[in-house]
Amino acid sequence: MNFTPSTEMQEFLRQLNKYIDKEVIPREQELKGLPWREVAPKLAPMRQENKDRGWWLPQIEKEHGGMGLSVVEHGLVCAEIGRTPFGMYLLNAQAPDAGNMEILIQHGTEAQKQRFLEPLLAGETRSSFSMTEPEHAGSNPVYMSTKAVKDGDEWVINGHKWFSSAADGAAFLIVMAVTDTSPDANLHSRASMILVPSDTDGVKLERNISVMGHAGDGYGGHAEIYYDDVRVPVSNTLGGVGHGFTIAQDRLGPGRIHHCMRWMGICERCFDIMCKHVASRELAPGRTLGSRQFVQGWIAESRAEINAARLMVLDAAWKIDTLGKAQARTEISLIKFFCANVLNNVIDRALQSLGAAGMTDDFPISGYYRSERAARIYDGADEVHKISAAKQILKQYL
Ligand SMILES: Cc1cc2nc3c(=O)[nH]c(=O)nc-3n(C[C@H](O)[C@H](O)[C@H](O)COP(=O)(O)OP(=O)(O)OC[C@H]3O[C@@H](n4cnc5c(N)ncnc54)[C@H](O)[C@@H]3O)c2cc1C
Repeated sequence: MNFTPSTEMQEFLRQLNKYIDKEVIPREQELKGLPWREVAPKLAPMRQENKDRGWWLPQIEKEHGGMGLSVVEHGLVCAEIGRTPFGMYLLNAQAPDAGNMEILIQHGTEAQKQRFLEPLLAGETRSSFSMTEPEHAGSNPVYMSTKAVKDGDEWVINGHKWFSSAADGAAFLIVMAVTDTSPDANLHSRASMILVPSDTDGVKLERNISVMGHAGDGYGGHAEIYYDDVRVPVSNTLGGVGHGFTIAQDRLGPGRIHHCMRWMGICERCFDIMCKHVASRELAPGRTLGSRQFVQGWIAESRAEINAARLMVLDAAWKIDTLGKAQARTEISLIKFFCANVLNNVIDRALQSLGAAGMTDDFPISGYYRSERAARIYDGADEVHKISAAKQILKQYL
């Protein structure tokens, strides 16, 4: 296999790298800590500029206005734009919208695409994915309490969700609800995805959950939501009644490549900060931190882990491109837990290498330390992916 990008792609990646370094990273300090309602308008002109020059929707096919990249190519883009917390958003490739766009393209009706997908692709709206419930283990979401009951040509939805990322300010939510409430219903085909406009009566955003010091507002936040007798047309069902979990799988496959390569971008950023610091920080005249073997260990281990993780993700992306998502299932699980741990290791070593400075918000490392611990939990916790990968592998031996 060969991961060398085309000449055109190499040029795009070079320009993107320069753009992130020169135009985005220098604005981070100004934007950091502001509420999302103040950040979004500041980023709007930059988004428009990217849209105008075609740096828009790298994860989407050309026919839907995207860049039509392969999964490998999109992975390489994520590694570049992942070096800043604003990168994915500036190209309209951010979670959870990217995953929601993909399932709307694959499973949406024409009317659903027109109403929900088009404004999302255009960058005029945001969306949320509302599946996890505080009362049930999200690792096995077949058990959930949210129900949608048919009344004429409407669903009536009742339930309680949390960690619905980016729900604050989103135009609509994709809600996972049990639609076959019979006691003998098949656990895997009893739930459906339903498109719910956020301003529908009965949608109650209870709170933006404060997470690791982040107030939880806007695009970077996670909401707790009550659905109280929420009525939407049955025609808002996405991809057919009972298909909720099948579609959820579709949503998470390529999404994990996006996340893992974005994390590689974060790793590179932290690694770079660590190396620059230890190369110049003197313990005594002429004796830098980088001359100490402990510190050299951090550098070597981090470089080895990042290189290994990056190649694993590209390999999984290549398998998706050439063999399809289903054939890459084991690799997708392997990269999810492996990369999340590499990410946390590299962030931790970079923070340690800076000493007290690493704890300050003068550097992006402390922010990553808070926000990226979640990588080992969302989109399937480490343990869930290890179990899944091991089961797939052991099948060959049974
Ligand atoms: C930052 C963030 C963003 C999120 N965004 C969304 C979103 O947009 N929409 C949404 O619906 N949900 C979202 N979630 C929720 C996420 O999907 C769940 O947190 C995840 O599925 C784990 O479920 P849980 O939190 O209920 O933990 P549980 O399922 O209760 O598990 C707790 C812990 O037990 C361990 N564990 C789980 N299963 C096993 C097992 N079989 N064997 C051994 N150990 C196990 C794991 O370490 C796990 O962390 C988000 C979560 C986070 C942290």
